[in-house]
Amino acid sequence: MVICGAGFGGLSAISGLTRAGLRVTLVDSHLYSTFQPLLYQVATGGLNPGDVAYPAGGVGRRYGAVFRRGELATIDPASRRVKLTNGLDLGYDYLIVATGVTTAYGHYAALSRVHPAERLPRAFAGLPSGHSGSHQFLVDDFVRACAEGVPPPNNVWQAARYGAPGIVAHQSAVQGGRLLEVPDFGDPPA
Ligand SMILES: Cc1cc2nc3c(=O)[nH]c(=O)nc-3n(C[C@H](O)[C@H](O)[C@H](O)COP(=O)(O)OP(=O)(O)OC[C@H]3O[C@@H](n4cnc5c(N)ncnc54)[C@H](O)[C@@H]3O)c2cc1C
Repeated sequence: MVICGAGFGGLSAISGLTRAGLRVTLVDSHLYSTFQPLLYQVATGGLNPGDVAYPAGGVGRRYGAVFRRGELATIDPASRRVKLTNGLDLGYDYLIVATGVTTAYGHYAALSRVHPAERLPRAFAGLPSGHSGSHQFLVDDFVRACAEGVPPPNNVWQAARYGAPGIVAHQSAVQGGRLLEVPDFGDPPA
């Protein structure tokens, strides 16, 4: 089995497959796997780049997979072979392509009440930004919260209020629809 891409998808596939007795070769163009959700903390200086990058080969080996570094160039389904740009040619019975996506950066939309366009310096006007244009505001919120010692408008207590029902609903679904309590983590400290 060949898995191309040592990101969330590729790595989560490995353990189940090797445990089921399949021989897995993991391929990635980088030597490391990036935990992307913590990139904001790297951008704002809270974490080092090394804190959010893990050796892809090490993680693969831990689950019994062989790691090959290289960029996927071509897939030949007829002969069941993939070619990497470094010339490596790998045969497979099954192939998982988990090479991620290219971010479609929108322009800042300032759709939210707490993210009015005029809040950002003019130099930011028209700059591409992810998550419907919220990234620059979220970084600004985070830095202001640290500097002024007040919770940002989108804070973890609010996120928990919106997120907890979904998590509990999932737990309920996997327990055959058992009624579960949705916890309320309260308001941010004053
Ligand atoms: C800043 C940021 C914050 C995020 N926050 C969250 C969050 O809070 N919650 C959430 O659920 N999601 C979040 N996401 C999204 C989440 O990280 C992605 O949905 C997830 O990483 C996608 O997993 P994946 O396996 O499809 O791809 P990726 O994790 O992107 O992995 C793809 C892998 O394929 C490799 N690759 C690419 N092309 C090739 C090639 N040709 N040959 C060989 N290897 C290749 C790459 O090097 C990479 O290791 C965030 C993303 C970003 C950028």
